[in-house]
Order: sequence, then C-alpha cells, then structure tokens
Amino acid sequence: MTRPVPLFVLVAALAAAPGCERLVERQIEHNLQRVDASVLESPDLQVVLCGTGSPLPDAARAASCTAVIAGGHFVLVDAGPGSWEVLDLANLPIGRVDAVLLTHFHSDHIGDLGEATTQSWIAGRAAPLEVFGPPGTARVVAGFAEAYAADVGYRVAHHGEQAMPRAAAGAVARELPMPAGAAATPVFERDGLRVTMFVVDHEPVKPAVGYRFDFAGRSVVVSGDTRKSANLAANARGADLLVHEALHPGMVGRAAEAARRLGLERVAKLAGDIPGYHASPAEAAEVAREAGVAHLVLTHLVPAPPNALARRMFLAGVADAYDGEVTLGEDGMRFSLPPR
Ligand SMILES: [Zn+2]
Ligand SMILES: [Zn+2]
Repeated sequence: MTRPVPLFVLVAALAAAPGCERLVERQIEHNLQRVDASVLESPDLQVVLCGTGSPLPDAARAASCTAVIAGGHFVLVDAGPGSWEVLDLANLPIGRVDAVLLTHFHSDHIGDLGEATTQSWIAGRAAPLEVFGPPGTARVVAGFAEAYAADVGYRVAHHGEQAMPRAAAGAVARELPMPAGAAATPVFERDGLRVTMFVVDHEPVKPAVGYRFDFAGRSVVVSGDTRKSANLAANARGADLLVHEALHPGMVGRAAEAARRLGLERVAKLAGDIPGYHASPAEAAEVAREAGVAHLVLTHLVPAPPNALARRMFLAGVADAYDGEVTLGEDGMRFSLPPR
C-alpha cells in the first residue's frame, strides 16, 4: 500500500524548486569561472606541488608532479598518475600548460602524460604539447599518441575542427642530449624563464635527470628520482627552492620485515630493493646544505606519513643536517618567489 504524500511536503517542494534551480545554476557558473588565469601574469617564479606521492596508493596524494609557472609559461616536471586531477582541482589555467619535462620513465612519473596532453587540449591549448626529456622521451610520447589516437579522432569528429583543432592535439617530443659529466643541458629559454637539465643518480635506471628553473633572479630545482647526488648539489647551487624526493629507509625497512613475517616474500623483496636508488630525508637535507639552498621541499614521499607522529619520524635527522626552511610537501601546496 502506498501512502499519500502529505500536502505540506508537495507545497514546500514546489516553493523550493526555483530556489534550487538558482543554486544549481550558480554552482555551474562558479565552476565555469573558477580558473585563475592571473598566475600567468604574475612576475613571480611560482611552484605548485601537483603530486607528492609515490607508486604506493594514497587517496591524498597523486604520484610525481611539480608545476612551475613563470613568464607566462606553465610547465610540469613529470605527470604521475592522478596529478592531472590535482592541477585541475587547483583551479589552474590547465589549457595553458605548454610543456612537460620528464625526469625518467618510471610509471609513477609518466602515467598521466596522456591525460595532460588530452585534457589541456580540451581546455583550449592552442598548439601541440611539448614534452622535453632525455633520450627515450620520443618513444614514450609516441606510445601515448598511439594509445590516444582514437580519442583525438572522436573529439574532432564530434565537436568539429573549429572547437577541437586537430593541429593542436597531441604532443611533440623534444629529446635532449644527456649532459656531459657535471654540465647542464639547456632545455629552453623563453620570456626570461631559463630551464636546464642535469644528470642525477637513480641507478640502475638510466637516463635519470633533474631540472633547474631560473627566472627574475630566483631559482627552483626539481630533483627527479635520485639517491644522494653530488651532481644535483652542484646544479642546485644557491637555489631558492629545492624540491627533492625522499624515502625513509627505516620505515620502508619495517614494512619489508612485516611482509616477511606474514610470509609475503615477494612484497618483502620489492620493499627491500627500493631504498637503494632513492635519497633519505636526511640525505636530501645534506644536499640542500651542500648546495646552499634556502628552502627544502620534500616530495615523492615513501611511505607518505599519514599523521603528525609519522611526519615527525619521517623528518628525523633533517634538522641536524640542514638549518634552512623545510617543508614536507602536500598535494596542492604553492610557493611564490617574487623577483629579486
Ligand atoms: Zn623512479
Ligand atoms: Zn618515482
């Protein structure tokens, strides 16, 4: 038996309907206007952490991604899985991303390259996305182009050339020669933003590089994946901000022991292998000290500390090694360096 709806509920629903519609419309307008394009006009060298996690799943952290915005350019260092969503939700002008710089080809650094390429085109990017990186970059870009070829075709056919120009779709690989020794390879110099690439130490993974950005007297260095690297310290000399990866060997070691106790030998082996080609938080701090960096930002956190106690453990030894400012990175964090 169905009960009749009380009259006052019907009246209230009818009265509320126009108000509800207005609320929904306002929300839609707000969403359409939320993008903050003013970051492209700023005179500052700006950094946004678009992924501070690792290959380990984490609801609060995307995998590797650091955005640098300066001189009207919007550049990503790596595009790890989940990072595109972080950028989009940060209300950044994602249709203006004009370059991605790859540090190496581990999946946690390239997994969202297809999304970065496609979604920035949908958001209005006017030319193919430039993807810079060491030898091997062209193969990665070609692979994503193949995987997304049907998608490009659908969108052009569905919305028309005017709205979705095929000429702006996809990415173009700009493979750079590996720097000789401690030297740095120029990546580009545009509108006052100078980018260079240098070798880091992620053995047995080769090539592996980091990037330095100089703009208006300020500088930012992004390490990529590396164990403690003297060449990184040399190339980070005097930087304002060093965004450095960090893996806590003690915490990962405990995870390996726990896996072994549970009979998960394969998991224990994998966990035991990874500390060898990453830097500990204290080692990242030593690099920051040796390079004379003003501010160290830790990213690519393994394991990502979930609470204040774990954050304390993660940073143990850092203050002894380095007396500059230290920030444990979180997705969406922003840093702004005014011109000097
Ligand atoms: Zn890696
Ligand atoms: Zn990684």
